[in-house]
Amino acid sequence: MNEVLRIAVQKSGRLSEDSLNLFKECGIKFDNGAGKLKATSSNFPAEFLFLRDDDIPGYVEDGVADIGIVGQNVHVETSKHVNEVKLLGFSKCRLSIAIPRSETYGSVKELEGKSIATSYPVILGNFLKDNGVTAHIHEISGSVEIAPSIGLAHAVCDIVSSGGTLLSNGLKEVEVIFRSEAIMIGYPNLSPEKQNILNQILFRIDSVQRAKNRKYVVLNTKQENIALIRQLLPGMKAPSILPLADEGWVSMHSVIEEQDFWQNIEKLRDAGAEGILVLPIEKMIF
Ligand code: ATP
Ligand code: MG
Repeated sequence: MNEVLRIAVQKSGRLSEDSLNLFKECGIKFDNGAGKLKATSSNFPAEFLFLRDDDIPGYVEDGVADIGIVGQNVHVETSKHVNEVKLLGFSKCRLSIAIPRSETYGSVKELEGKSIATSYPVILGNFLKDNGVTAHIHEISGSVEIAPSIGLAHAVCDIVSSGGTLLSNGLKEVEVIFRSEAIMIGYPNLSPEKQNILNQILFRIDSVQRAKNRKYVVLNTKQENIALIRQLLPGMKAPSILPLADEGWVSMHSVIEEQDFWQNIEKLRDAGAEGILVLPIEKMIF
């Protein structure tokens, strides 16, 4: 029987779109139409399960799913026995403690004896323990920010991105206790066949990610400027240099880190670069 890798992704939420795009950019086709709970790829040995993010680590631990994508916050909070396969760089957020805006805050010691509402009792518990603080953790599953105003808790510990939700609930952020991004987790005992499929996916992800930070640059210049321009584009190790129809002019082509390019754009023009084209790269295979 041909093995298929079962991939668990969030059904709908802040991880969904980037998770699905990751596989689509790797050329893995599947239909994730609304309401679907499962989809089989038409061109790659993979099957997708669309789940609540909280359930994904458990499914991966049990081997019901072979790999899954969750936030590090959920991975650490659920503490399941799974492999950390790869950090993915999207869905970045932080887990913070917030208190009513009217209160003053000096240090974490002020949380001693207070009650803190959170959906992350494990991560919060670790933080308090590391800081030698004893507080009452009040676990609730949602709408955490409302807890102080209804008298349920003194403080909250929740996911923050912009801080807008905290502000509108009269709270201020006082401690960042955990920083999170999306992570691919995996079943620790994959069969060699499944591990092989996973390796193919990881190879493709690397190729896509490498390409994202780099650009293909084409520019024209006079022959005598070549050396100077190479110095200004440190990533340009071995540019292709093609003669132009005009005598003494060349076209230089290379792949560079996008950041290097923007830092040096003015200097490049001063050095005699003209007609500069910056093109996206879809994949980079080494
Ligand atoms: P589900 O219905 O699947 O249980 P959820 O409501 O628990 O979804 P979401 O709000 O969709 O979860 O967030 C999923 C993950 O995305 C979070 O666990 C966190 O890692 C990350 N995340 C949360 N808020 C943000 C944000 N504002 N910006 C970026 N990433 C975030
Ligand atoms: Mg959830």
